[in-house]
This record gives sequence, C-alpha cells and structure tokens, in this order.
Amino acid sequence: MKALPIATTGAPLSILAIGAHSDDIEIGAGGTLLSWLAGASPIDVDWCVLSANGPRNDEARASADAILKKARTRKLHLMNYKDGYFPAEYMSLKNFFQQLKDSVAPDIVLTHHATDAHQDHRLIAELTTNTFRNHLVLGYEIPKWDGDLSRPNMYFALSERALAIKIEHLMNHFATQRSKDWFDDETFRGLARLRGMECRAPENYAEAFHVNKILIS
Ligand SMILES: [Zn+2]
Repeated sequence: MKALPIATTGAPLSILAIGAHSDDIEIGAGGTLLSWLAGASPIDVDWCVLSANGPRNDEARASADAILKKARTRKLHLMNYKDGYFPAEYMSLKNFFQQLKDSVAPDIVLTHHATDAHQDHRLIAELTTNTFRNHLVLGYEIPKWDGDLSRPNMYFALSERALAIKIEHLMNHFATQRSKDWFDDETFRGLARLRGMECRAPENYAEAFHVNKILIS
C-alpha cells in the first residue's frame, strides 16, 4: 500500500498530543512523533498530560523536553488529575478541554482511542473527539493487562532506528513504570512488529491508530 504523506514536505505542522498519564503519548505515538520531528517540516507541539503528579510530573516534563528537542515551538500542559479517577472529575476535565480548544489550532490531534479499556484513557478519548470536532484525531494504542488491543485503521511505518530510539527513550525516562512486568522492550517491539506486518512496513515496524474521520485532497 502506498503511504500518503500527512503534510506537504517542508510545510509547518501543528500537533496537539494528549495523554492521560505521563508515558501514554510516548508509548502510543512516540515513534511517529520522533519520525515527524526528524523530518524537514517545522513542527509546533502542544503536549498535554492530564495526570502528571509528583515524580510523574518530573518524568513527563523530562520526557517531553527530550522528544520535542527538534520542535519549532513546544508548550507543555501538565495537569494533576488523580490517576484512575478521571470519570469522577468529568466536569473539571470538560472545562479543561474547552479552555484548551481556545488556545490551540492543531492540524493533528494525538489521543487515546475510544475503546481503550482504561477508564481514564476512554474519557480522554471521548472528551478529545467531543472538543476537537473539525480536526484529524488519531487514537493511539496502549498495550495493557486488559487485552484491549483491537483493529486499528491507520498506520505509521517506523524505521528500525526510530523504534530503537523510542524504546530506549521509554526505558530511560519512565523509572516509575519499569517495575511493571509488562513495561519492557519485548512488549513495545512485539506490538510494533505486528502492526508493521499488518501494513507491510518496509522496515517491519509500525505504530497504529484508530481514526473516525479523515478528509483527503
Ligand atoms: Zn495511561
């Protein structure tokens, strides 16, 4: 399948990346972001982590700073919602998204996808698509104990090098997660290999996304 470029080479691209927790954006779309940022287009990024509390705030900030080194501009929105309790904070989160909408104008929104089994992820997916209604919204995947991986419908092929940088980045920046039995090289590489197989990625690896609506020209 021929890959269609998401933007004209060299043209600026504005990205809003949203994650419930400090490592979500990196797990779901780290390889895609690193690849875009290594390209020729100037990229402006708004980086939003809703539950970045205590040590996870430092992790989120250090990780975003490292990934976004090549961004033309970057703005971090690190919030303190309690991990696991997002549905109980619905009103406040809804207000946050409304305010966010007024301060950004993204070409692409990266967020959780609607059938993610984690309640925080699912609510963020819902609020993103409710708020950014005239935007390209890409829902990324987070492998987890719940076994909620399903059928994605958009792929970004990764080079071997991009995947290696992504995995090294995850291992280096998220010390709080390394004790979790699933947080390892094999999980991330295995999923990327399967997604790469599904889209016949030239270097075998890919990240996959769920997209509700896409406008082509
Ligand atoms: Zn998460």
